[in-house]
Amino acid sequence: MSQRLALFSKYILTMDRPRPIEDGFVLIQGSKIIQVGKRKELYFPPSARMLDLGDTILLPGLLNAHCHLDFTLFKGKVKYRGGFREWLRQMAVRTRQTPAAEFRRSIQAGIGELLAFGTTTVCDVSTTWESYPLLRKSGLRAFVFLELIDLGQPSTRHYWRQFQERLKSVTHAAPPTPTFRWGFAPHTPFTVSKELFQLVGRGLDDHRNLPTTIHVGESREEARYFKKGKGPMADRIHALNPDWTLPRHTTAVQYLNGLGWLPKLDLGVHLNVVDEKDLQLLAKNRTAVVHCPGSHAYFGHPRFPYARMRRHRILVCLGTDSLASNRSLSLFREMQLFQKEHPKVTAQEILALATVHPAKALGMGDQLGRIKPGFLADLIGIPLAARKPKKEDVFEQVLNNRRKVSFAMVHGEPRLRLN
Ligand SMILES: [Zn+2]
Repeated sequence: MSQRLALFSKYILTMDRPRPIEDGFVLIQGSKIIQVGKRKELYFPPSARMLDLGDTILLPGLLNAHCHLDFTLFKGKVKYRGGFREWLRQMAVRTRQTPAAEFRRSIQAGIGELLAFGTTTVCDVSTTWESYPLLRKSGLRAFVFLELIDLGQPSTRHYWRQFQERLKSVTHAAPPTPTFRWGFAPHTPFTVSKELFQLVGRGLDDHRNLPTTIHVGESREEARYFKKGKGPMADRIHALNPDWTLPRHTTAVQYLNGLGWLPKLDLGVHLNVVDEKDLQLLAKNRTAVVHCPGSHAYFGHPRFPYARMRRHRILVCLGTDSLASNRSLSLFREMQLFQKEHPKVTAQEILALATVHPAKALGMGDQLGRIKPGFLADLIGIPLAARKPKKEDVFEQVLNNRRKVSFAMVHGEPRLRLN
């Protein structure tokens, strides 16, 4: 039997109870939480180790539902001049010109920033396939979504065959572990052909446990492309692949639904431009939505329709996107930006967008996102501010945290301890 560890903290914000526990404990055995309560109620097992975190707020580790670690060092390097298609083109050029070693430095820098600001689970969309060895060593819990994009490819079938061969070799070399999973990320509904969506869709029938994510409904330009089948985006796509049939009179979400992809889609990223029917389809298919407030503000996308999504009971999660379109990989900052845009939403509800919701969206709602017996011990601690909060203000204080975390644990293993 592995040794037990009792963690003590001034406040424990479990995300399982409406109020924080004052002077609380969490008892951990191996990778799991086995007991949570008030310090004075703990019968201290004689063989247990103990760690007193003192004036700390202990909470579930945060889950970043959308990130591109590849592009951490692109911060401030790709200029947005008001055209989303042009920005994507610049990103593709820069990606082609960047050596693999530079991407590895970028990924490592990103991992450091995630952990320092309390992310314990990351969903990384990997363009270069360089992140998985580094993430596996990092101590973070990671989902690596391999990106698929065949815009500009001479043969979709050839591209997919090559992808499958690479996939076989990397999954053989790096099989899933309790803290590491693979996933698929078809890039967008306009950079992936109908044929590739169909091939990947069939491929997923053989890999039912692989989670999926797609950028969808992000910009006005994308909406125009699906509605009219013309405009600058359509021109560019048609020039690269003249035989692609361009959609018309639809939306990106309805187009994916027509391809049979919505039931297969776990995390739809962005969804800034959606109509009522799109929302009904997302709700019906239980597709979660990832909102990236920093990246959303950077591009000046239309207002994120949170209230409408909430009415449809769509699970909304937060992500940082990459530093090519954001200033920080801190989910605390994302929560602060969200609060500014949606001031009526409570701090507790906002915190759920980075804990309980993404855990559910990843099929781990009974293991992650709360501090609860039977759940995995993914925890973070933030130092209490000089002015101690009233019990009811603990959520606010967490939300407004701007400092690095002082403690982080993933799968029962301490990963960071600052004092
Ligand atoms: Zn993205």
